[in-house]
Amino acid sequence: MPAKKKRSASAKKKAQRRRQKRGVPRCGLCGKTKNLTKTECCDTWICDDEDSYVLFSYERNSCSRNHRRFTLCGYHSMEGHDGDWKDCTKCRDAFNTEMYVWYGTNEYNFETLPNPPEYEPTRCTDCGRVIRLGEDSYSLCGGSYWCDRCMATHMSEAP
Ligand SMILES: [Zn+2]
Ligand SMILES: [Zn+2]
Ligand SMILES: [Zn+2]
Ligand SMILES: [Zn+2]
Repeated sequence: MPAKKKRSASAKKKAQRRRQKRGVPRCGLCGKTKNLTKTECCDTWICDDEDSYVLFSYERNSCSRNHRRFTLCGYHSMEGHDGDWKDCTKCRDAFNTEMYVWYGTNEYNFETLPNPPEYEPTRCTDCGRVIRLGEDSYSLCGGSYWCDRCMATHMSEAP
């Protein structure tokens, strides 16, 4: 058995510094420490970066916007539901299962949905490719989903 190593003073200092670092407020999504605000929905530190969003750009580069728009936590709070979003039946009923799971488990969440329900993947009506509704671009046409590729072909074939 090796003798127990004594922790050196410098190691102790390092540990201290680490602790202090952890005490600094950080964005719960990207870890930045500058220009933070607290989310209205769950009182968590997040980048105050709503301004960096370019209108209609559909870019997902704003932490606060992403959390508010693309999570059940944000939705639940915006809709004024009661209780915890994780067991809110109104939220569950508001989306199809795939989107519900995506909203509850994507990277914009601080906490993710425990035991997300299973669902059948959505497939393109034409080519059968799996469409991830939260991530991929697609078109919804008469109740069927089209992947962007097939939609493009479809459009160019149209008279
Ligand atoms: Zn951030
Ligand atoms: Zn939240
Ligand atoms: Zn809700
Ligand atoms: Zn397709």
